Amino acid sequence: MASSGLRNGGAGPRMSTKLDRQGFGATPKAAAGKQRLSSASAGAGAYRRTSSGPLPAAGAARASSDGVSSRVRVAVRLRPRNAEELAADADFGDSVELQPELKRLKLRKNNWESETYEFDEVLTEFSSQKRVYEVVAKPVVESVMEGYNGTVMAYGQTGTGKTFTLGRLGEEDTAARGIMVRAMEDILSDITPETDSVSVSYLQLYMEMIQDLLDPVNDNIAIVEDPRTGDVSLPGATVVEVRNQKSFVDLLRVGEAHRVAANTKLNTESSRSHAILMVNVRRSVKGRTEMDVSVSGENGHSSSMMGSLRPPIIRKSKLVVVDLAGSERIDKSGSEGHTLEEAKSINLSLSALGKCINALAENSPHVPVRDSKLTRLLKDSFGGTARTSLVVTIGPSPRHRGETTSTIMFGQRAMKVENMVKLKEEFDYKSLCRRLDIELDKLIAENERQRKYFDDEVERIRAEAQCRIAEAERECKIMLENEKTKYHQEYLDSIKILEEKWKIHQQSPKKQTKEAESTSNGAGEVHNLLQNEKMLRQSAEDEASDLKNQVSHWKKMEATATAEVVKLRKMLDTEASQKEKLEEEIGVLRSQLLQMSMEADETRRSLDKGDGPGKIFPGLDSLVSQTQGSQPREQSNGPKQPIAKLFEQVGLQKILSLLESEEPDVRVHAVKVVANLAAEEANQEKIVEAGGLTSLLVLLRSSEDETIRRVAAGAIANLAMNETNQDLIMAQGGVTLLSMTASDAEDPQTLRMVAGAIANLCGNDKLQTRLRGEGGIKALLGMVRCGHPDVLAQVARGIANFAKCESRAATQGNKVGKSLLIDDGALPWIVKNANNEAAPIRRHIELALCHLAQHEVNSKDIISEGALWELVRISRDCSREDIRMLAYRTLTSSPTLQAEMRRLGIKM
Ligand code: ADP
Ligand code: MG
Repeated sequence: MASSGLRNGGAGPRMSTKLDRQGFGATPKAAAGKQRLSSASAGAGAYRRTSSGPLPAAGAARASSDGVSSRVRVAVRLRPRNAEELAADADFGDSVELQPELKRLKLRKNNWESETYEFDEVLTEFSSQKRVYEVVAKPVVESVMEGYNGTVMAYGQTGTGKTFTLGRLGEEDTAARGIMVRAMEDILSDITPETDSVSVSYLQLYMEMIQDLLDPVNDNIAIVEDPRTGDVSLPGATVVEVRNQKSFVDLLRVGEAHRVAANTKLNTESSRSHAILMVNVRRSVKGRTEMDVSVSGENGHSSSMMGSLRPPIIRKSKLVVVDLAGSERIDKSGSEGHTLEEAKSINLSLSALGKCINALAENSPHVPVRDSKLTRLLKDSFGGTARTSLVVTIGPSPRHRGETTSTIMFGQRAMKVENMVKLKEEFDYKSLCRRLDIELDKLIAENERQRKYFDDEVERIRAEAQCRIAEAERECKIMLENEKTKYHQEYLDSIKILEEKWKIHQQSPKKQTKEAESTSNGAGEVHNLLQNEKMLRQSAEDEASDLKNQVSHWKKMEATATAEVVKLRKMLDTEASQKEKLEEEIGVLRSQLLQMSMEADETRRSLDKGDGPGKIFPGLDSLVSQTQGSQPREQSNGPKQPIAKLFEQVGLQKILSLLESEEPDVRVHAVKVVANLAAEEANQEKIVEAGGLTSLLVLLRSSEDETIRRVAAGAIANLAMNETNQDLIMAQGGVTLLSMTASDAEDPQTLRMVAGAIANLCGNDKLQTRLRGEGGIKALLGMVRCGHPDVLAQVARGIANFAKCESRAATQGNKVGKSLLIDDGALPWIVKNANNEAAPIRRHIELALCHLAQHEVNSKDIISEGALWELVRISRDCSREDIRMLAYRTLTSSPTLQAEMRRLGIKM
């Protein structure tokens, strides 16, 4: 409740209130028109615009009325005297005197004094319920049906007829029907059931608690205020849709019964509670949609879519009928059995209403709407947007003059309250939404239908097209076939014609000749000439035939000759291969011959010279003789000549390749030839270069033949004389191969050759360590097992060579350790054979001993193994002076040996 325009500003009790003659009967529009005029004079500040809710711009414009000023209408109704009053107040006049035509009420203070008040309507005790409805409620009801909120309220002392005025059901007497029933009758008769709806809630407010009279369990309903619009609602209240008058009356009866029950329960009277009936009217604005549909689109065409997009307009208005609690003051002592607190609470809403109306009437800036639930609920009714009509009820009894006065004053103040009625119209988005949903569904369905139709159509057209294509193809084929046949026939025909033409053409020259013959005069001559020609041709043909025969004859001859040539060539090839074989044999035989001659030569030389120091193995003769001993020896002019010849004739490669020959004899001879060649220093390099050394080593290891092994060993021994070859032998694992042969071989001559080869390697300073490492010394010493003096001599030579190299290294300051010979256990054998009767053995051992003793580190072993004695002997008895002197020098220069000799008492 905000400020409102003052109508009868400053109207005091004594002053007559100015009458607005337009009065209760005026329709809201007409009233609004008048109000506008009158309110204009009241000043702009007097108006307050209230929010109209969520209306869009268009809607807002439509309901642009921010409100039309409309004063609260107030009627006063006087109850007739009841039985009690008739009896008790029989001698007294009424406290009020009504002047209904003047809409005035005179309140008698005493017998001579009264005050007059003007109301919008003055209803006497004879006013019918119908009349009361028509002047108090009907304008409000009509206004509600037009989309405005409306309030009809009864105020007055208990028993003055509030309920009688508002709530009588009038079931036994329709004339007695109250405002509620009559209002509903009018509403129901005016609505369109298809588009409009009416629903009601029925509540009781008692001690600031809102109870649902349609569902008493609901006894504390909350008031909800829309924070945006400020509109209040009771979402917790039961809302029942009313379809007919009977159901409404039933609802009222039920409500009344609940009200009685509730008041019994609460130990109160209905006069202490406020009854509130809320009637919600929801109406669609007819004709509006159709009108909108006709609105033209931009292109000037009527657009149904535009129409469908425009939401329909609905009006949601509310009629509130309030049967207030009795306005009489409750005894502060709580005479009705209530505590003071309860009494306060019971009166709270009513006194708050009085305060609000006072504030509004006085245009006070503050209206205490929030002080009570009633004022909150009636927010729209006083100072709000509703059209409000108040009926104040009074009794005639002078005994209640005080209460009657206060009621009249309340009515007077209420008359000053100005509302701004406003159309409760809004767009119905929900229904638009529903409608659009339906429309959308329709469109989707239509779209699908069309698409299906389209698909079907496409399919049909496709099938048809295929049929047509097939048909066209078939026709085309037939046509082509026909054309083909036609052209083929034409072709054949033309061929025939051409053939005939050609035949004719062929025949025509003969004809011409014949004609010529018959017609020519010189026919005989020509005939002769022809004859002659014929003969000539015949002879030429014969000649050609003859020549042909000759040619074929010659061709035959040529073939025979060619065959002969081929045969001869084959024979020649056979001969050539036989020749090659023979040549090879000759080569072998030659090498054998050469071998034999060399052997003979060697034997001879050996017999002549004995055992020379330079060449170690001059004696192949002895080796060969073991296998060929029985063969007669061929004499030769010398070894060099045939060898040189052999080299020249056969070639080294050929000889070496023969080492791998399949023939055992060839292998034997070949190895002997190689051995003999190896004996000559000039050939050694060539043999090694050609891979002869490797072949020989392999042969030594792999051959089963004793002779081959013996001769191969001899050849290796000879190659081992050369220092370069020594390196190569070492590099190719020759020492290992020789050591293995040394341990396996039985034949003394083979062992002699092997020992000789190792002995040669022993003389190479650079190879000492490696030779020993690969078991060379051990192999050498192992070969003494055979006991053959030739072998022992080679062993002794090897030891001497090794010892000499060691002592040479020692004098050069290289050697630090003990002799490797001593390490490998050579000393015992040396000592044992130091006095061997075979001179070559003895001499080499004597030298070896001297070399060993020259190195001081060996002295200890020399002493312990008894070699000292041998050295002493050598120094005294050796037949060779150089050795004897060497031994002497050695003994005298060694401190250890000297000491030992002194110890033993040996004198030099
Ligand atoms: P309230 O509701 O104000 O307490 P009621 O409507 O209950 O008063 O009225 C009290 C009594 O007066 C009831 O018996 C009622 O029938 C009677 N009465 C009230 N007004 C009239 C009237 N105008 N005509 C006849 N009887 C009336
Ligand atoms: Mg009542």
